[in-house]
Amino acid sequence: MSKKIQNQKENNKMDKIVSLCKRRGFIFPGSEIYGGLANSYDYGPLGVELFNNIKKLWWRRFVQIRGDVVGVEGPIIMNPKVWEASGHLSHFTDPLVECKLCHLRLRQDKPDDIAAHERAHQGKKAEWTEAKNFNLLFKTFIGTVEDDKAAAYLRGETAQTMFTDFKLVIEALRKKVPFGIAQIGRNFRNEITTGNFIFRMKEFTIAELEYFVKPGEDDAKFEEWLASQQEFFIKDLEIKPANIKKVELPKDELAHYSKRTVDTYFNFPFGWDEIAGIANRTDYDLKNHLEHSKENLRYRDPETNEEYIPYVVEPTFGLDRIMLAVLADAYEEVEARSGADETKHEQEIVLRLNKKLAPFKIAVLPLSKKEPLTKMGQDIAAALREQWMIDYDETQSIGKRYRRQDEIGTPYCVTVDFDSLEDKAVTVRERDTMEQERIAVDKLQDYFKDKFN
Ligand SMILES: [Zn+2]
Repeated sequence: MSKKIQNQKENNKMDKIVSLCKRRGFIFPGSEIYGGLANSYDYGPLGVELFNNIKKLWWRRFVQIRGDVVGVEGPIIMNPKVWEASGHLSHFTDPLVECKLCHLRLRQDKPDDIAAHERAHQGKKAEWTEAKNFNLLFKTFIGTVEDDKAAAYLRGETAQTMFTDFKLVIEALRKKVPFGIAQIGRNFRNEITTGNFIFRMKEFTIAELEYFVKPGEDDAKFEEWLASQQEFFIKDLEIKPANIKKVELPKDELAHYSKRTVDTYFNFPFGWDEIAGIANRTDYDLKNHLEHSKENLRYRDPETNEEYIPYVVEPTFGLDRIMLAVLADAYEEVEARSGADETKHEQEIVLRLNKKLAPFKIAVLPLSKKEPLTKMGQDIAAALREQWMIDYDETQSIGKRYRRQDEIGTPYCVTVDFDSLEDKAVTVRERDTMEQERIAVDKLQDYFKDKFN
């Protein structure tokens, strides 16, 4: 296949994912009734379930099962001195140039965007101003007076709570280095580069943790965390290994605080791009906070009495990007496979989501929308809801209903048919194999507990 056709096909795939997400309630354009807002999206009823499931798996792997990591949840607005100490007020910038014809600002380091904009002016020669640094922190004001003394910022990263709480966590939880503090939370960046759906947004959710180690032990811990990060993608989210790669950042591209950074890239329909990273932040943050706050943030080893400022290894996960990766990885078009005779269609979408991630675990489908099948179906759905997210659908043909569940990734469908009234059993259909099994209604809970464990 030529590269051009391949590209068209992949763009097409991205369009199809965006369309599926809107049509089935995963992701909506933000503020759509007012014409939307650039780089802003809402997670719909299915999207929020998927997103929460990703968060749960993350917390389980990196907090619950480890024993050496604890969680916190900090506010979006922190004391502005935090951002002074962290270097964000001086370093968290993009170089922008302004088009002299229309005053649009673009990032100087995005030559493709600049070239596209020049072409859009058709014939008129676009000229650009000198690059100016533009801070990505969103500014706001505390109180009623909008002057610089009242200025505050929406956080640009979650990490800072873990540094400002470092001492409090050690004292309250009696933690010994090495240990980590984790947080999942919203972050804000005044992004002006648009595009690629939820890949780049003004607000986004980051899951990250700061792992504090004795200087000298940082390189080994970095390797351990890198392995652990990959396990999350391959084992927990079940992303296809061929769609994941690690990218070591060259020294001259490292962030101002980093000694080493390795990013994880996913093979999106629009190309390989970053979904996670791991950085060795050294003692940069604690040292700066110590200088700015005058608090003693040194750690004293209780056994040796040795005092030092710990180094920090920081695995970071862009959860919105990971959700898009999970959707793209699971999206599959297959030849018509269910009920081809009853409704003409050529292709079906199957979202092959990991069972733990699927928004609905089970759909209950009575064969007819009349009593007494509906009553039996609703009772079964109500009982299963105690344990799992359940969809209930009684409209349209059974083939169409199976396909609707396949395209949102529901692992199991339970069909209540006329025999069910007699034998008190239902048919369970599995999404990927389409295999069907007859299961007694009073055994359903145990059957699914086994499947979802
Ligand atoms: Zn212009």
